[in-house]
Amino acid sequence: MEEKKTKYMDRAINEEILEKMSLKNRYAFLNTNLMTVLEQNQMNFLKSAQKFCVRYEKKNEITHAPNEEFYHWIPDFGKEGLISRAHPYSEIDMNFEDYGLTIELMRCLALSFFDPQFSMAGGATILAINPVYFHHEGIPLRLEILKKFVTGVTPGAILITEPERGSDAVHQLTLCKENDDGSFIINGEKIYNTNAPKSDYVVMYATGEQNNGNTMAQFLVDTSWDGWSCDRVLIPWVPKVWIGHEHFNNMHVPKDYVLGGIGKGREHLFEGLVPERIGIALDATSQCWNALAFASIYANNRKQFDQEILKFQGVGFLLTDLWAQLMNVTQGLLRFTEKYDAAIEKFGGELPKNMSQAMVAAASQLKYHTCALSKDICYEAANLMGGAGLCDNTLMHDLLNISRIQEIVGGSRQIQLYILSMAMRQLYKMTGI
Ligand SMILES: Cc1cc2nc3c(=O)[nH]c(=O)nc-3n(C[C@H](O)[C@H](O)[C@H](O)COP(=O)(O)OP(=O)(O)OC[C@H]3O[C@@H](n4cnc5c(N)ncnc54)[C@H](O)[C@@H]3O)c2cc1C
Repeated sequence: MEEKKTKYMDRAINEEILEKMSLKNRYAFLNTNLMTVLEQNQMNFLKSAQKFCVRYEKKNEITHAPNEEFYHWIPDFGKEGLISRAHPYSEIDMNFEDYGLTIELMRCLALSFFDPQFSMAGGATILAINPVYFHHEGIPLRLEILKKFVTGVTPGAILITEPERGSDAVHQLTLCKENDDGSFIINGEKIYNTNAPKSDYVVMYATGEQNNGNTMAQFLVDTSWDGWSCDRVLIPWVPKVWIGHEHFNNMHVPKDYVLGGIGKGREHLFEGLVPERIGIALDATSQCWNALAFASIYANNRKQFDQEILKFQGVGFLLTDLWAQLMNVTQGLLRFTEKYDAAIEKFGGELPKNMSQAMVAAASQLKYHTCALSKDICYEAANLMGGAGLCDNTLMHDLLNISRIQEIVGGSRQIQLYILSMAMRQLYKMTGI
C-alpha cells in the first residue's frame, strides 16, 4: 500500500490577521487602554522597554517557536536594565532613575508581551535578587553576585520546595550543620526550582533540625561547588524554562555565603513571599493583557457569516466582560503598587515590620485574584479565536499553559485562601466586635 504523505502546515492563520497581531500592535492595544490610567513617567518607561523588545525581536529574528531557546538573551536584557527595577541598585552602581513596584509592573508588561516564558523565568531571578539585596551586609562577594544577577551575567534561582515539602514549606527536610568557623555543611534535596540548572548562583533554605521551622537558615550558593548536583525537570507547559531537581551531598557553604544563620531562615522566607506573590500578580496581569490583545485584534478582523466576529454577541460580550474585569483589577493593582512605592520612599527603602505584615493579605489577594483571572482570560481569549487560538502561530498556547502554572507557584490557590482565612480571623479580632 502506498504510504500517505502528510506534512505539517506551519501557517494556519490568515497572513494579514497574523501581521495585525504583531508585538508592536499588541503593545499599541495595551498602551491605548492604559493611556488615561498611567502617569507620564510610567508610560515613558513602558514605551522605552517596549521599543527595546520590538527591536530585539526583529534584529534577532525571534519567532517564539516551541523549539526556540532564550537563556542567551538574558545578558542583552541585563545591559538594558530590564532584569529588575525593584530598587535603584546604587550599591552596585546601577543608579536606576526609574524603579519601584509600579515600574516593575511596566517592565513586566513589556517583557511578558514579548515572551511569556522568558518573563516567567526572569521572575525566578528576581526571587534570588531580593534576599541578596536585603542581606548583602556590604560583603563584596555578595554585592558582586547581586550585580551579576541584575546585569544578566547569570540567571538566578530560589530553592524552597522539596520533593516531600511543597505547600508546607516551613517543615523542611534538607539539613544544614554549622561548623566552628561559621561555615555550613548541607545535605538533602530540592525540586521544581526555576532556572536552577542554568544559574551560576542560587539562594536556598535548609534547616538545623528536620520539621522545625525555628531552625531554618538561608544560604547563597555557588553552583560550581562540590556536593551540588542538579538535573532538569521538564514541565511540558513551559518547555523553554529550565527547572531543577538538586541534590546536596556534604556541600560546604563558606561563612560569607550565609545570608541568614539558624533561626533566621523562616523570617527571610516570609519576607520573600510577599514580593514573590506580588511579582506573580504582575506577571499574571501581563498575561491577561497579552491574551486580550490577541483576541481583540483577532475578533476585530476575523469574519464569519460576512461579519467581524466581535459583532456577534457571543464573542463581543464575553470579550468585553473579560476586558472590564481586567481593567478594574489592573487599576486595583496599580493603586497597590503606587501606595507600596510611596511607603518605601517614606520609610527610606524598607517597610517597617508591621506594615510589611499588613501586606501579606494584600499580596495573597492579588496573587489569588490575578491568577484566577489569568486562568479565565487566557482560556476564553484562546477559545474566542477558534482554531487560530489552538495552533502555535501565536503566543496563545504559551499564555494558556502558563496561566495554569501561575495558580500553583508561589503558593497554590488553596494556600492563598487559607492564608486569607487566617488574615480575616486576625482582622475580625482587631475590630473588637
Ligand atoms: C513551573 C514551576 C516552577 C516552580 N518554581 C519554583 C521555584 O523557583 N522555587 C521553588 O522553591 N519552588 C518552585 N515551584 C514549586 C511550587 O512552589 C510548588 O509546586 C507549590 O508550592 C506546591 O507544592 P507541591 O507541588 O508539593 O504540591 P502540594 O503541596 O503537595 O499540594 C498538592 C495539592 O494540595 C493542596 N494543598 C496542600 N496543602 C493544603 C492545605 N493546607 N489546604 C488546602 N489545600 C492544600 C494544594 O493546593 C495542591 O492543590 C515551582 C513549581 C512549578 C510547577
